[in-house]
Amino acid sequence: MAGREQHGDGVRRRRVVLFSLPFQGHLNPMLKLAALLRARGLGVTVLHTGFNAPDPARHPEVDFVPIHETLPDEATSPDSDILRKLLALNAACEAPFRAALASLLRGGGGGHRQDVACAVVDGQCYPAMGAAAQLGLDEPVPDLEPLRVRDLIRVDGCDTDELCGFVASVADGVRASVSGIVINTFEAIEASELAKIQRELSLPAFAVGPLHLLFQTPPAEQSLHEPDHGCLAWLDAHPPRSVLYVSLGSLACVDHGAFEEMAWGLAGSGVPFLWVVRPGSVSGAGDEAPPLPDGFEEEIRGRGKIVKWARQREVLAHEAICAFWTHCGWNSTLESICEGVPMLVQPCFADQMVTARYVTHEWGVGLEVGEVLERGTVAKAVTEVMAGEDGAQMRERAHRLQMQASAATSSAMDSLIRFILSL
Ligand code: UDP
Repeated sequence: MAGREQHGDGVRRRRVVLFSLPFQGHLNPMLKLAALLRARGLGVTVLHTGFNAPDPARHPEVDFVPIHETLPDEATSPDSDILRKLLALNAACEAPFRAALASLLRGGGGGHRQDVACAVVDGQCYPAMGAAAQLGLDEPVPDLEPLRVRDLIRVDGCDTDELCGFVASVADGVRASVSGIVINTFEAIEASELAKIQRELSLPAFAVGPLHLLFQTPPAEQSLHEPDHGCLAWLDAHPPRSVLYVSLGSLACVDHGAFEEMAWGLAGSGVPFLWVVRPGSVSGAGDEAPPLPDGFEEEIRGRGKIVKWARQREVLAHEAICAFWTHCGWNSTLESICEGVPMLVQPCFADQMVTARYVTHEWGVGLEVGEVLERGTVAKAVTEVMAGEDGAQMRERAHRLQMQASAATSSAMDSLIRFILSL
């Protein structure tokens, strides 16, 4: 699977991050656990305080990263009782631990976000546990592998209970009044999910997708925006598999800071790109096309094309396209798979986190662009998907899915027609 740290035998390692309070009786077992995990083939990073720091020379296989805490006297003074020390250490370590872990998760130290499987945190270090959970090192969802809690449907600014209520009403409605389900997917990418739907709802499910492949001649698509007509000619001037296509679909909106990091990350990557900057896609710019950062256009002149809307399917089918930076809207994801194009994923809301997780961890055809958008991480992820070993493997897998998608289509549609006629 993509996104594991490379080591000698060509396999990528999952990584465990360890952190304990700086007491002998806490550090010793943690370092033993580190050695044992390492011996079983996992990567291990020990985050540690500067106070009572472990000696890295004694554990050459483990990566040590100091958290740069500032301790008040009462955390270390022989005059403080143990409870005072524990409270002071916990309070002083919370923010630096969070910052060090966030940096690791952004790929600091040369790792990848996906490499970090979990953090093992000293049981007496409760703020660190909270920080790890908030940063997404949280639980898998029972029965819904590979999803984690943070991949579940959410919409920023919406009340979670209200959203769950809506989803539950949808499910109840389906159970109560539906004869069958038509889904725009195909068996090869969601076989067990389809079986589960059929089993749990006792309803026939017809995976008739990818729908757009069922047409000999693509139907005229209704587009909410006027597409730019120069994209294909611009792509024609580029060699095969040299261009990154960037689009976050028709609804997603990023904040101004994220937009700037996207722009400078693209500039810093050095790759040619076609970027759909939709009017209204940056918060604060209203319905207007957001202004590009100062100096950006000069920086990318001749290398980047920016449009308000593109004919996406034609763009993805162009041989110059190498990879797609997407928000993982379901249509965009299917369109990318159907053209065998690997993805950089930046899910924004609703079901996009679920789809992104499948892209990266189930189908192995994409890489996270970075949980927190930062230009250095962005440039690194872009380079990886365009020219790295991981990118090449993802392209191969995407190509296999493309073959399966094109073989999958009309028989499910035939079954659906038969079922409709039987009603
Ligand atoms: N799309 C397009 N041009 C663009 C951006 C998007 O034609 O510049 C199309 C894309 O091909 C897809 C749809 O808009 O069919 C977006 O749907 P998706 O489910 O990917 O995301 P949403 O817009 O619903 O978030």
